[in-house]
Amino acid sequence: MFVGHLGAGLAVKAAEPRWNLGVLFAAALFADLLLWVLVLFGVESVGASVQSGRARFFTFAFPISHGALASAGWTLAAATLGWIVAGTGTPRRARLACTLAIAVASHFVLDLVVHVPDLPVAGGDSAKLGLGLWRAMPAALAVELALAVAALAVCMRRVRPCPLARRAARHGRRGHGHPDGTGPLPARRAAARNHPGRLVARHARRHRRPGIRRGRAGPMGGAAPRQPLTLRQPGIASRRNPGDAPRPL
Ligand SMILES: [Zn+2]
Repeated sequence: MFVGHLGAGLAVKAAEPRWNLGVLFAAALFADLLLWVLVLFGVESVGASVQSGRARFFTFAFPISHGALASAGWTLAAATLGWIVAGTGTPRRARLACTLAIAVASHFVLDLVVHVPDLPVAGGDSAKLGLGLWRAMPAALAVELALAVAALAVCMRRVRPCPLARRAARHGRRGHGHPDGTGPLPARRAAARNHPGRLVARHARRHRRPGIRRGRAGPMGGAAPRQPLTLRQPGIASRRNPGDAPRPL
């Protein structure tokens, strides 16, 4: 089972969105990740596949990573780790610790449903557990897939999308295309036409005050340069006040 464990991580994410989804996936797959590390070090082993009815199964010797007692220990360790990294506030720490522990514990529960009896209770020589849904592999795959799809649907409803995705959805509803500039060309042209800067410029053109006119055309056909501002000083003639010119004595 792989997709089913990912579904468990998604379900925990839906219940507690503050956990990083990658952390929850790692927690839900922790037993399998540990199994392969221990196989590399020769502590646990995966044997050749054997025929059982119409299905073939690998044989495992994995009391540390997949044992019932060991899984309880890993769950307790996950709860402790969650409590430590959750920050301050007892309710927050308790909730985050519990959800991380549930993600780890879900691995044993799901494996218990699908594995043939090969999950040891405590140690390699102890009794083995497993309900054996793998003997009906199509049903096992259907259950696994249904669990993952249902968890994904719930997670997408509960977890808020990122801001860019929200903007994209809003622009998509208005027919303006994606905010990064992609989307249908007519929609992008419409968005550019209604850009706030262009709307302000259009408004200014329509409501220009009648007393303010552009300068007359200059000798080269362009607008005449503006007259520089001058200070009115008594006794000095200006263009608007020729009477201020000094009179001859
Ligand atoms: Zn497993």
